[in-house]
Amino acid sequence: MNILVINAGSSSVKFQLYDMREETVIAAGKVERIGMDSAIVTYEPAGKPEVHAVEEILEHTTAIRKVLDLLVHPAHGVLKSSSEIEAVGHRVVHGGESFASSVLVDEEVKREIKRLFELAPLHNPAHMQGILAVEANMPDVPQAVVFDTAFHQTMPPVAYLYPIPSVLYKRHKIRRYGFHGTSHAYVSERAAALLGRPLEELKLITCHIGNGASCAAIVSGRSVDTSMGMTPLEGLMMGTRSGDIDPAIVPFAMGKEDLTLSEVNSMLNKHSGLLAISRLGSDMREIQQAMADGDANAKLAFDMYEYRLRKYIGAYAAAMNGLDAIVFTAGVGENSAPLREAVCRNLSFLGVELDETVNAQRSSAERLITTPASRVQVLVIPTNEELVIARDTYQLILNRRSVI
Ligand code: ADP
Repeated sequence: MNILVINAGSSSVKFQLYDMREETVIAAGKVERIGMDSAIVTYEPAGKPEVHAVEEILEHTTAIRKVLDLLVHPAHGVLKSSSEIEAVGHRVVHGGESFASSVLVDEEVKREIKRLFELAPLHNPAHMQGILAVEANMPDVPQAVVFDTAFHQTMPPVAYLYPIPSVLYKRHKIRRYGFHGTSHAYVSERAAALLGRPLEELKLITCHIGNGASCAAIVSGRSVDTSMGMTPLEGLMMGTRSGDIDPAIVPFAMGKEDLTLSEVNSMLNKHSGLLAISRLGSDMREIQQAMADGDANAKLAFDMYEYRLRKYIGAYAAAMNGLDAIVFTAGVGENSAPLREAVCRNLSFLGVELDETVNAQRSSAERLITTPASRVQVLVIPTNEELVIARDTYQLILNRRSVI
């Protein structure tokens, strides 16, 4: 069974086509700059040369049409006909309180995703465009939606409520939702497999550290707390996002600098984090290089980033009253040996003993980076959100068949 996984953004569509017999990716790619006369198409069919094209693609329906044409192209294609795609799975950022698991798309699901536009105005409308574009091109193919927030719906009220007037939760659903749920779920399952222990027995802290970053406290495979909140701005210091700050800074800075709400929002989301402190950029590779060259701002940015992550790890060990393992994943978590080393060095009080040689290895393999004597294990596990979307979609299709 072939499953097409789609991640639709406001001006881009990323895709992967999975053959679920062996869970292999048989083609992948993206269409960027949708809405412009020079959209960029990148297509990577397995075992064949990559295809690059620049052409006018003004909306998502045309972008999906282009993807389908490439998948069945006589020279570059991997399918004889688009009818070989059995289902499409979409990443959807916000499922609010309505979705605690992945679901097949129907009219009610679409209405609910639309109702959630106000909680994720930058993401959910684009995902909806993706769903409608697939529907326009392949009206008979079932679609599933997999939510970034769903995995965290197991959090108890003590973790998801904010200590502000409860009317704000009742009227407007202002609460912690958390994000990167598919990634936290995936790496926690892989961690249990690598440790050779049942997930039900484990207390884990999973650190998804990419451009956006969040960590989660996971007890018996269930998320009990996570650092991102009602929006992906809360929590850890990130590439360009501030993470936690005193909320009183917002009105104060607005008054002092004569900023509008939209300006202050943009400041905290796009001009803060590593970028603001290093004054160089938001990419951890650039920060590490500048630090090695003696740049003091880069060092301060790195130290703050590490310190804030370590504080969350300490807090979550306390929240769970124990800790078996810490998992690092995503761009920075998988690749930055210096960050992992700095965090682990300062967690010796928990019994973390890093194996510096394994940690320093340049490898994209799943691995344990602590010594056998370490009381808390630390793992590096490359995330695979697309695979989770493909698996959930596949399972929903199988379930539907067994009902019919
Ligand atoms: P996104 O949140 O956009 O999905 P990723 O998970 O792909 O991001 O992470 C991207 C980030 O990973 C880059 O901005 C960069 O800071 C970091 N990164 C990638 N490779 C390395 C590396 N070798 N060393 C340190 N950081 C890296």
